[in-house]
Amino acid sequence: MAALKRINQDDLRTHNLSVVINTLLRSSEPLSRADLAKETGLTKATMSLLTSMLLEHRSLKEGVPSVQSVYGRPSTPLSINGGAVCGIGVQINTDGYGYMVLDLDGTVVAERWISKNLQTADATAIFGDLDTMLSDQISTLQSRGYTISGAGLALPGLVANRTELLVARNLGWERLDLMQFPVVERLNMIAGNEANMAAIAQLPGYAAYRRDDCLVGANSSFIYVSTDIGIGGALVRDGRVIVGDHGFAGEIGHLAVEMDGPVCRCGRHGCLEVYAGRRSMIEAAGIASGDESFNIDAVTELFRRLRQGDPQVEAIVDRGMEAMGSALASLINLSDMDTVLIGGMWNLFDDEYLQELRNGIQRRILSRNIVDVRIMRANTLPLPALYGAALTGLRRFVDDPLQFMQE
Ligand SMILES: [Zn+2]
Repeated sequence: MAALKRINQDDLRTHNLSVVINTLLRSSEPLSRADLAKETGLTKATMSLLTSMLLEHRSLKEGVPSVQSVYGRPSTPLSINGGAVCGIGVQINTDGYGYMVLDLDGTVVAERWISKNLQTADATAIFGDLDTMLSDQISTLQSRGYTISGAGLALPGLVANRTELLVARNLGWERLDLMQFPVVERLNMIAGNEANMAAIAQLPGYAAYRRDDCLVGANSSFIYVSTDIGIGGALVRDGRVIVGDHGFAGEIGHLAVEMDGPVCRCGRHGCLEVYAGRRSMIEAAGIASGDESFNIDAVTELFRRLRQGDPQVEAIVDRGMEAMGSALASLINLSDMDTVLIGGMWNLFDDEYLQELRNGIQRRILSRNIVDVRIMRANTLPLPALYGAALTGLRRFVDDPLQFMQE
C-alpha cells in the first residue's frame, strides 16, 4: 500500500514537472512563479516546490528580479536553462548521414553531417561509423555535465514499432532489426520515418525552446508533405504525430490518384509519387535518370526549364500539380485538417504555383463552403528530420523529467 501511494505521488510530481517545462518551452518570454501557477492551475506552494527542484537540476534558471510597482514585491523571471539536458538526433538519408545534439534551451550544441551517396550502402558500416562519431561526442557532453535524455533516428523508409526498419528502398535496406546495432541499443534510439521527424520539427516548443517563428502552434493539427526523393508525409493532430498502430501512418506518396496509372515502386498503379515525386518529374523531363536523378543539380535544371517556359516541363509540372491537388483534397476530406505544410523540393515552386495548388484543393474538398485550406512552405530548417530526431530524444525528458532528475 505504501509503495502504491509512493508511485502515485511520483506520477503526479513528474506530470506536474512536465507541465511546468512544457509551459516554459512554449512561452515567448520568461515567467514568474506566480505566472506559472496561473498558467498551469497549480497552487503557488506547489509551483514553488516544483521550480526549486528544476532550479536545483539546472534545467531552469532565474533571471533578474523586477520590482512590480503595484504590489512592490519582486518577481523573479524563470526560463529554460542551457547546459543541463540534451537530446541526440541521428539521420541516415540517401545523400549522407550524421547527428545533431540539441540542448533543451534550443541551442545546437554539436552537429556533424557526412555527405555521401548511400544507395546500396552497408548498414553495419554506416551504424559503426555513427557509433565512433557519437562515442567521442558523448564523452564530451558528459564531461560538460550534460544529461543525455534520449536519441531519435530518422530513416527514409517504413519503420515499425520504433525499432524495426521494414524497408528503405533508396538505401537498399530491408527487414533490419535496428537493435542489432550497438549504437542504437546503447542510446535506446527511437527510430521513425524521416517525414514524421520533419513534421515534429515544425512544432514550437515540442521539446526545446524555439527562438524563431513557427508557422503553426504547439497544439496545431496539420498535414506535412515531404517532397524529397520520393513523397512522404505525416499527419499531426493536436501537436502529436499520428504514427498509427504499426508506425506507417501518413504515407501520402502512395495515395493512388489514377487507378490505371503507371506502376509505382511500391507495386501499385498511379500513386501520387509517380506524378509529383522529385525523381519521377526529373526522369519524365529527360534531365537525368536512375542515380543521377538524386543529384541536386537535376532539381536546379528542372526549375530553370520551368521558368524558361519549356512546354514539356510545364506539362509535367501541371500533371504533378493535379496529382498533388487530388491527393491532398482526399486527405483533407479524410482527416478534416485545413493546413498543409510542404517541405523539400516543392518549396521551390513560385507563389503562383502554390496558390494554384491551393485553389485546386479548395474547389475539390467537400467542406469548400466552410473551410479555408492553407498551403504553406514548411519552416526551412537545413535538416528538418535530423532536428526532429533530436527533439524526439529530448521529449523523453519533457515527458518524464523526474527519472532524469533522480540520477
Ligand atoms: Zn506507390
